[in-house]
Amino acid sequence: MATQTKDYYSTLGVKKGATAEEIRKAFRKLARKYHPDVNPNDKKAEEKFKEISEANDVLSDAKKRKIYDQVGFYSDNIDPAAAEAAARGGYGGGFGGGFPGSAYTGGARAGGRGGQEVPFDFGGFDFSDFQSSGGHARSGAQEQAGGGFTGSFKDLFGGIFSGGQKARGPRPGTDLEYQVSVDFWSAVRGGVARLEIQRQEVCPACKGKSTTGGSECPECHGTGQVTQMGGRMKFNIQCPRCGGTGKVQSGCATCDGEGVVVRSEPLEFRIKPGTRDGQRIRLAGKGNAGTDGGAAGDLYLIVKVGTHPVFTRVADDIHVTVPVTMTEAALGAKIEVPTIDTHEGGGRTQLKIPPGTQTGQKLRLREKGVPSASHEGKRGDEIVEVKIVVPRVQDERSKEILRELAKLNPEDPRAELLGEV
Ligand SMILES: [Zn+2]
Ligand SMILES: [Zn+2]
Repeated sequence: MATQTKDYYSTLGVKKGATAEEIRKAFRKLARKYHPDVNPNDKKAEEKFKEISEANDVLSDAKKRKIYDQVGFYSDNIDPAAAEAAARGGYGGGFGGGFPGSAYTGGARAGGRGGQEVPFDFGGFDFSDFQSSGGHARSGAQEQAGGGFTGSFKDLFGGIFSGGQKARGPRPGTDLEYQVSVDFWSAVRGGVARLEIQRQEVCPACKGKSTTGGSECPECHGTGQVTQMGGRMKFNIQCPRCGGTGKVQSGCATCDGEGVVVRSEPLEFRIKPGTRDGQRIRLAGKGNAGTDGGAAGDLYLIVKVGTHPVFTRVADDIHVTVPVTMTEAALGAKIEVPTIDTHEGGGRTQLKIPPGTQTGQKLRLREKGVPSASHEGKRGDEIVEVKIVVPRVQDERSKEILRELAKLNPEDPRAELLGEV
């Protein structure tokens, strides 16, 4: 099969010898029936409308109709003189180089290949594949179709000869979010955290364009032209696959046409002193790369602060539970408590336990907490919770003293509790 011939006359339901008026009327009648405006979301009607528009575009134009009648198909690339010669049945009638420059690209023609036999099968060439690609180099002549409908065959099929390449345009990269574990001390004093992230980077092979240019067009073998049969004649027309350039953009093999590749990236970032659990750190532009020049996304790190066996952190305060003996609590004492300042004073400080301190009581050490990450120079407090340790007395002497003590202090600590019930 050398060509896909369409019978425009039967598409419009007119005879081959129909007058221009008959063609105009037939088209108007069909266009009213199949126009997309009266058949919203109807694919079949849309297809039909394209078919009748295409038929009308050719048959309503005397010059185009003549070429169509002569060779059985129409292309802007066909020189009327060549069609004339074809109709007369001559071979080799000087077709080489006899075609006008393309209306779509204006590209140079490969003269001298005109009469050459280029085996090519149009059987698989389906115009509908190209309709969505959007023409970027349309013919300037916009014809007014009959019945007041603007838009012609060329508008509907503007992309046919554009090479069928999809224009993607820049797309921004997406944001990334990672949870990062930071140990207790690094969060308190600051430090450096490291992690490995998987992010999309601009593909080094295609520079994010998704395609690598310049391989030879498989349809025209780089010549920019293909041969189509018109009756017994061969016509060289602009290759529809590459738009006459002879080259096709192929999907980038490195990134599978995605424009980006996924890479593992070791990341090192500073942890400010006082960084809190759950804090979000934003690293601008460290997210996934955009494609085709689109901006990169951001990277968000969610800090997960580790725990400590002694200190519990609540925002910028440090909580610690300290055992105190019964006598220390009763009589009052100066005790040593641990602090987070291990570099000064050996990580401990003096705390005064007032006489009569109860278990569970909280004593505050001002500014012994965590330095604030948001307010320079500010520090949280250390909250010391007293836990009274009762002596496990074994000897008789100690027991005697405690019994004596009880006798001297006969108040019932449950009196108030029981009184309220
Ligand atoms: Zn690539
Ligand atoms: Zn080609």
